[in-house]
Amino acid sequence: MSVPISQMWTVASYVLKQKLLGRKRYPLVLMLEPLFRCNLACAGCGKIQFPVEILRKQLTPEQCFQAVDECGAPIVSIPGGEPLLHPQMPEIVEGLIKRKKYIYLCTNALKLEKALSQFTPSKYLTFSVHMDGPREEHDHAVCREGTYDIAVSAIKAALKQGFRVTTNTTLFDGAQPERIRGFFDEMMELGVEGMMLSPGYSYEKAPDQDHFLKRNQTYRLFREILSAPKKAWQFNQSPLFVEFLKGNYDLECTPWGNPTYNIFGWQKPCYLVDEGHTQTFAELLEEVEWDNYGTQSGNPKCANCMVHSGYEPSAVDATFSSLSGLVKTARLTLFGAPKQNRPLGDLDTDQRFDEAETPQRPERKPNELPVLQ
Ligand code: SF4
Repeated sequence: MSVPISQMWTVASYVLKQKLLGRKRYPLVLMLEPLFRCNLACAGCGKIQFPVEILRKQLTPEQCFQAVDECGAPIVSIPGGEPLLHPQMPEIVEGLIKRKKYIYLCTNALKLEKALSQFTPSKYLTFSVHMDGPREEHDHAVCREGTYDIAVSAIKAALKQGFRVTTNTTLFDGAQPERIRGFFDEMMELGVEGMMLSPGYSYEKAPDQDHFLKRNQTYRLFREILSAPKKAWQFNQSPLFVEFLKGNYDLECTPWGNPTYNIFGWQKPCYLVDEGHTQTFAELLEEVEWDNYGTQSGNPKCANCMVHSGYEPSAVDATFSSLSGLVKTARLTLFGAPKQNRPLGDLDTDQRFDEAETPQRPERKPNELPVLQ
């Protein structure tokens, strides 16, 4: 079991309460981006292209707490940028633990080992370490040699000190299924609690535009990687989301499920697409034309998106929306996925995915982006 029972119970009771209250749109995970600056400049990242004056800004702890209280989601994910570059991150984490929020602090782990002494192990705090595959692939993806070994050392140190640790892995075109399977073995042998997988989103600002997966490529890649999964592998995500990545289960995006708050406010409409901001969470829910997003909308920005921040809340909602959703999730959890995949049929040749707008390649290359410490 990759997630503690208390966390599962908190999420289940929260979702059931939203259902009983008849709320159609509710947040599940707040994506709290306290800063955009990073000590890496990954080729697939669409978050670090802001001017230096923006990269130097950060949310105060009070702004973080206000956003968390306003949103009410039981889980707070802290991506960035690199959250450990925020000098008040321990204070922010402490404040969120006091509020009994389950925190996933996403980090490239370059500063994690040194920073551990500033945190206290808690069931509410998980370090979610960015690991994009085995050593060679990871170092290539983050555009710096040696990062895999630093991250592995930090994971070991964090586990030894009693912290919860998971990994998050973004996959791109060219990922080799056998090597990714070997990587899963390595991570589980280290003792991480679970692994989170997602295909990369085709950020128009990302320097590398050639390796984002189209939707039908995603289905094929995840089918290969996850065929005959090993018992030891634990995934820190809903089984319905995993089946969605394999093309075996249909989900539509619920972008309000993972709302994003950063130095500009509440980002419209989602963590990936930036079409302006509102100053309150209530305004975000009211102002966004939600029907304009998701695969069915025909919006080219959404055509190939299968990212966890859009679809993981959909999977959780599907679990609790009907008896069949609950039974399917229970079956997948207890007995694993069926050996046979659903025929992809039209999904495999759907022209929308191949014809989705190709974002323009920006002028700056990864090593020309500012890397701030
Ligand atoms: S499909 Fe992806 S890009 Fe579109 S709204 Fe959902 S999460 Fe955002």
